[in-house]
Amino acid sequence: NPDFSAGYLLSLLAVAPLTCAARDTPMGHPHNWQRVLEQSDIGLAQYSTQRQRIELSEHWLRLLSYNTQEFGNGLADFWNQFHPEDTPLLQQTWNAALKEGSNAALPTLECRMRCRDGTWHWLLLQFIGEQHASTGRPPPEHVIITARSATALRAAREREQLSESLFQHLHEGLLITDATHHVLEVNPTFTDITGHSRETLLGTVPSLLQPAMQGSEAAIQLSAMQNALNEGGMWRGEMIDHRHNGEPCLFQVTATAVRNPDGTVRNHVVAVADVTRARRQLEQLQRQAHFDELTRLPNRVRLAQMLDAALHTSRREGSLLTVCYLDLDHFKPVNDQFGHQAGDKLLLELANRMRRSLRSWAGGDDVVARIGGDEFVLLLRTTTLEESRHAVERVLYQVCLPHTLEAGAAPVAVTASVGATVFPLDAADAETLLRHADHAMYGAKQAGRNGYLFFDAEHDRRAEARFVALGRVQDALSANEFRLYFQPKVDMRTGKVLGVEALLRWNHPEHGIMLPSQFLPLIENTSLSTSVGNWVLQQGIEQLARWLDQGLQISLSVNVSARHLQEPLFTRYLASLLAKHTKPVAQSLIIEVLETAALADVEYTCTLMQDCRAFGVRFALDDFGTGYSTFTYLKRLPIDMLKIDRSFVVNMLSDRQDLAIVEGVIGLSQTFSCSVIAEGVETVEQARRLIEIGCEVGQGNGIAAAMPAEKIPAWVYNYRGLIASSRPEKFSL
Ligand code: C2E
Ligand code: CA
Ligand code: CA
Repeated sequence: NPDFSAGYLLSLLAVAPLTCAARDTPMGHPHNWQRVLEQSDIGLAQYSTQRQRIELSEHWLRLLSYNTQEFGNGLADFWNQFHPEDTPLLQQTWNAALKEGSNAALPTLECRMRCRDGTWHWLLLQFIGEQHASTGRPPPEHVIITARSATALRAAREREQLSESLFQHLHEGLLITDATHHVLEVNPTFTDITGHSRETLLGTVPSLLQPAMQGSEAAIQLSAMQNALNEGGMWRGEMIDHRHNGEPCLFQVTATAVRNPDGTVRNHVVAVADVTRARRQLEQLQRQAHFDELTRLPNRVRLAQMLDAALHTSRREGSLLTVCYLDLDHFKPVNDQFGHQAGDKLLLELANRMRRSLRSWAGGDDVVARIGGDEFVLLLRTTTLEESRHAVERVLYQVCLPHTLEAGAAPVAVTASVGATVFPLDAADAETLLRHADHAMYGAKQAGRNGYLFFDAEHDRRAEARFVALGRVQDALSANEFRLYFQPKVDMRTGKVLGVEALLRWNHPEHGIMLPSQFLPLIENTSLSTSVGNWVLQQGIEQLARWLDQGLQISLSVNVSARHLQEPLFTRYLASLLAKHTKPVAQSLIIEVLETAALADVEYTCTLMQDCRAFGVRFALDDFGTGYSTFTYLKRLPIDMLKIDRSFVVNMLSDRQDLAIVEGVIGLSQTFSCSVIAEGVETVEQARRLIEIGCEVGQGNGIAAAMPAEKIPAWVYNYRGLIASSRPEKFSL
């Protein structure tokens, strides 16, 4: 007669008075039950209604870290051990058990009990009223309470709630499917992004995972995803999809396979981030940043890249590259006489004629770029000087043909002056070649316009001989002739000084203070640039630490060249410099990297940035907008700040296109959630406009020019803000 009454079960436990009862019991094999219960995770308590005493089993006491029942056996002693917030419900359940005995349907309670060390332990309690043995009716003879630890249960529940809330509120869309891609669950973000409701998605294969037309881009991607999931269990990439309203969109997708213990796939988890807007912004920015709006010709920024490529081809092929600067003679009168619209029409027509007169080559086509109102640059590939001359003449001939600006009106003729220089006879770098062509163009203007002039490299070499002396930068480093100047960066709205940028100067014994453009290009690709870079880092960090010590809370931006950044020991050297200081300086250090340098090797730059960010150092992309960043790359870099290039800020008030680029960079910074700073702020009007369109941090000669370190504290102290204190004479316009 196996009687599983609570009293019987309890009697098996090693509670002294109860074990006596166990010995008294006439039934079966008490010791077996006792062992089973001792090894279970259930604690038991027995309350005798007659004796009004409650006794707890050893296991229960152990749950509370007691060895023996160190509190009394009275009911009040027992209740005292519970958390006050839990006692009302406990009492209520207890009363029901007392009144109705085993007839009552009593809930399992989750409540806190005090441990020996004063902490609370969550328990799951179940009350059982045991009917009176003789009457078989309530009130019961005993009330039994079982207790199990609720710690694990509560932790699991918390984890579950956390993942549920994560799932519900995650910024990324989440999709969980079975092994055959049928949707089991989606989160609200996913339905928001796609416009498909949860109900229509459940049980279907979402469009992202649907087999696409054989050979199509989508089909190739899908099979790449399938392969990656089979091999590594994970795939990440971009996919084009359509929203519910048919609008195409671009998703950054991360798919993961969840496997059963036997290795078969149970689920797929697909995380989806909507990058449509960010991509569109960047592409638009690139178009604006690299092409002239009116003529659709490459602009100055794009020209620089095309010139680099063309020089590369020339070196490889041994061909000549003629770099021409073309400036229209008397364009202004056309504008004045016929109006801007006619002027634009003329420029467009000229651009098309020049484009048509260019030739195509295996190594890259000839190029025409518009770099100013009526200024153009042409890159013409030839094999002989004679041919260069013919090429220039051909372009000039096209330009000078009469134009019909209005139907019926007399045709208008414009002329142009061209200056040219031929690489590698003029074995200079890209920037210098352009300058030489520009020089020659001025020569052509002086020589009466409407003609061309070739730059005399031989003559110029003698004139520039002086600069060869600059080759001895190493000596300058040893002789301690370098200086760091610092240019303030401020919050233009509030006037708060945020930091300074370190700018290198050479205090030359004969030429005085020389700018980086006069000597850095010379050492650009040499190991000397690393030595100079290291010197800048070391001096900069030392100066920063001094300022922080003085209580000057500012950040320091340091320019780091592409070559320096690629130095294998860069991170270690930086760490060693930072380690010299007890105060945290890294948090106030910002490294400025040229957009183009950062993107030269994204994989590498990304790792490097992450390593440096681990110390607290931040990164800014310098001269932003001038590079040719692709969105996929940019997105991967852990960037804190975009620095709008000076060339866009300078003209933003007069040039719609430059303004659009500035706005584009600001928009992009918001998309990438990084901050944005404008460099080269020269006037209050520029500052005002920048603030209006969302860029509040600025740097430039209109705020302060670069100055020696010792002037910074006083400048910071006296600075009253740009706009509040604006008096016109404060600015060199
Ligand atoms: P950057 O990093 O774009 O620095 C800003 C340049 O613009 C500085 O010229 C600064 O003096 C100038 N500038 C600032 N505000 C204005 C303004 O309102 N109007 C005009 N017209 N110019 C302004 P700087 O000092 O001649 O430096 C030129 C470039 O040389 C820097 O451009 C940077 O790329 C490089 N450079 C300077 N110092 C270092 C250095 O320590 N290491 C490396 N690797 N490069 C450096
Ligand atoms: Ca910079
Ligand atoms: Ca810059």
